Amino acid sequence: MNLTIEIDPRSGFCNGVVRAVQQAENYLQYSSRLYSLGAIVHNTEELERLKKKGLEILSISDVEKLHDDVILVRAHGEPPSTYALARRNGLQVIDCTCPVVLKLQQRVRETWERLRPSGGQVVIFGKKGHAEVNGLVGQTDGEALVIGSEAEAASIDFSRPVALFSQTTKDPDEYARVAAYVHSRRPDAEVYDTICRQVAQRHKSLVSFAESHSVILFVSGRESSNGKVLFALCRSVNARSYWLENASQIDQSWFRDGDRVGICGATSTPKWQLEEIFIYLQAITRS
Ligand code: SF4
Repeated sequence: MNLTIEIDPRSGFCNGVVRAVQQAENYLQYSSRLYSLGAIVHNTEELERLKKKGLEILSISDVEKLHDDVILVRAHGEPPSTYALARRNGLQVIDCTCPVVLKLQQRVRETWERLRPSGGQVVIFGKKGHAEVNGLVGQTDGEALVIGSEAEAASIDFSRPVALFSQTTKDPDEYARVAAYVHSRRPDAEVYDTICRQVAQRHKSLVSFAESHSVILFVSGRESSNGKVLFALCRSVNARSYWLENASQIDQSWFRDGDRVGICGATSTPKWQLEEIFIYLQAITRS
């Protein structure tokens, strides 16, 4: 079968994930074990690779039982309560919170402290229960309202001042619609553009990448919230888009002779995984 195969040059880990994985690997050069609070990246294959080097994923209830050990805080960040727990239990923290998330946490905290005396509220557009969102809600002592969709924005109390923030990996177009609705109900609402630049750029470039190929293989862990958003984007412009976690899930019936196949992924998809898919497809081409 004759296929033209191309990897999206803009796909691969975002800076925040690159930094966290590098720090974990640096540590594991000198130690046989490192605890990560939550999955360092939402990608099963990459996690397996790091587990072989000694990375262990713990939940917050596991961390409560740890004393005088070392934990890694991933790029998503953590609420202040996690750092307080680490101090109580004598834990050293390798803090890999992405600088973009850290800045957002500070803005959320400052805004909440400023608006609170006048009865104002912080609203976060994000996925309920997502680690980054939990870290943001923690900046407001749990008071921030989390909305997961445009429809849920109706639950905001518009009789009070509003400050709206977005989780860094949300869809920019969806956030723009939420912001427009909030402004329609409360024109003086403060709306902050807090979607990560890398994510926003990737949205734009991915649309043209998906449009310019006949088949799209989107590679990402099923747990990745950025993966869900980006795959939906590919599907919206290219009906022959397929979501897979590894090469074994490729179905040859997806391809027709002469297809241009584009391989891309989420901010949590390592480049090596995209290259593996590329090599697999090259073998199909030769057969
Ligand atoms: S998506 Fe952006 S904000 Fe989130 S970890 Fe990656 S670089 Fe940081």
